[in-house]
Amino acid sequence: LDWGHERLRRRVQDGIREVRFMLNGQLAKLRKELSEKRPSASEIDGRLEGLAESVNEIIRLVGVEGEALAEAGGAADWRRRRLSRLQTELVNRIVKLQNPQQCQSAKKLICNLNKGCGFGCQAHHVLYCMTLAYATGRTFVLDSVNWRYSRGGWTSVFEPLSKTCTERGSAGAKQWGSTGAEDAQLVEVPIIDAMAHKPPYLPQAIPADLYEELSGLHGNPFVWFAGVLLNYIMRPNAAFQRQLDDNAIRLGFAKPIVGVQVRRTDKIGSEAAFHDISEYMVWVEEFYKTYELRHGRPDKMRILLATDDANLLNEAARRYPAYTFLSDTSSSRSASVRDRYSDGGLRGVISDVLLLSKTDYLVCTFSSQVCRLAYELMQVGRDDSSDRFHSLDDVYYFGGQLPLEVTARFAHKARDSSELDLSPGDVIGLAGNHWDGYSLGQSRRLGRNGLFPAYKTELVVRKAEMRPGL
Ligand code: GDP
Repeated sequence: LDWGHERLRRRVQDGIREVRFMLNGQLAKLRKELSEKRPSASEIDGRLEGLAESVNEIIRLVGVEGEALAEAGGAADWRRRRLSRLQTELVNRIVKLQNPQQCQSAKKLICNLNKGCGFGCQAHHVLYCMTLAYATGRTFVLDSVNWRYSRGGWTSVFEPLSKTCTERGSAGAKQWGSTGAEDAQLVEVPIIDAMAHKPPYLPQAIPADLYEELSGLHGNPFVWFAGVLLNYIMRPNAAFQRQLDDNAIRLGFAKPIVGVQVRRTDKIGSEAAFHDISEYMVWVEEFYKTYELRHGRPDKMRILLATDDANLLNEAARRYPAYTFLSDTSSSRSASVRDRYSDGGLRGVISDVLLLSKTDYLVCTFSSQVCRLAYELMQVGRDDSSDRFHSLDDVYYFGGQLPLEVTARFAHKARDSSELDLSPGDVIGLAGNHWDGYSLGQSRRLGRNGLFPAYKTELVVRKAEMRPGL
């Protein structure tokens, strides 16, 4: 028996009790003062600030005990080993599917890489195609001629998706979803947004045969599944890998390190809002406060800064001198709208994504596919890392996905007309999280939209039969 485990468990429970005492006790005191005398606004403000500080401190400490509890008795290694076994199993299936005995006659699924968008979006397009191939037992053939990022196509930076079967062959192809397509040898797939009928194995579904174990081991099984597939899809070729390794050494990549991705230029005003660097830094500071409680002061407080805003590094380093910023300036320069669709732009964004995926914690806007890609890849080869991020805007999603849903674990009575009533078991289509305790969504039972306390709900993990036919 591991007594350390018991001690930690008690500390977590004690900490939660202390939060309650602190919050209720101090608020009661403040309310009494408010009714008896008239404290000034700045007095009230000071009291509230003090209370927030104390409560945050207890929560941080409980978080640290909770982290230790999650690792006690070798549990973290145990999870990592089991996840790694699942990964091996999944990758073996993919390798088999991608290298059929008879390439000539194998059933294939063909996708064109040239979706008219950036690399993150295209990588997700490839992932979606790989998932369809896996679910329908077809060998996935990626057509990457005239790639907007590189004339050399996919293999200018990555290993091919198959050792033995990369050509589509000469037979005519059927369009996905057309009559006879299911039995056709070659099927061409449209982009996800253009799919008329969405099959149940689209994102964010995971293979039904992995569901039990994966949903036990991981806080967001689809993100893990996506990460494992992407890790297979995006294997840098030997020459590019050398370049990536050199780059990491040159930047001084080491742990601890927080990844910050700041997406600006063409995204602002069209698909996302502007966020000042200070909004990201709140979460970096929180990470390092927690880190210090657990491991002591780090040698350096590193931040890997990835961005398409070439001016940001100077500003960040000036405003936050306590931190060591690692940033590939040639990469952010080549990320400008004018230069990004080039070999340099391609290598820059991949390098940023891979480095971000190797950090201890990610701070970014999930409206950017660059950051979601990094978050997915971050899950590979580790213990459950589903909570190692903070997004300033969206929840994690996959463009074109099946409806994202949460289910109510506890009842809730709406406090006003902006809120939803919850009954245990209610399914709610999730529209977003305000990161203030409330999420926004549509109650399927009530047929209306509203806010609800996120802590009373949990994510619905979709599962679907996928038949790689092995
Ligand atoms: P999204 O528009 O942010 O959702 O992501 P996309 O990947 O679809 O398109 C943005 C493109 O801009 C990327 O693929 C890169 O070419 C470039 N870019 C955006 N952010 C970064 C970044 O942090 N680093 C680098 N190197 N390039 C970026």
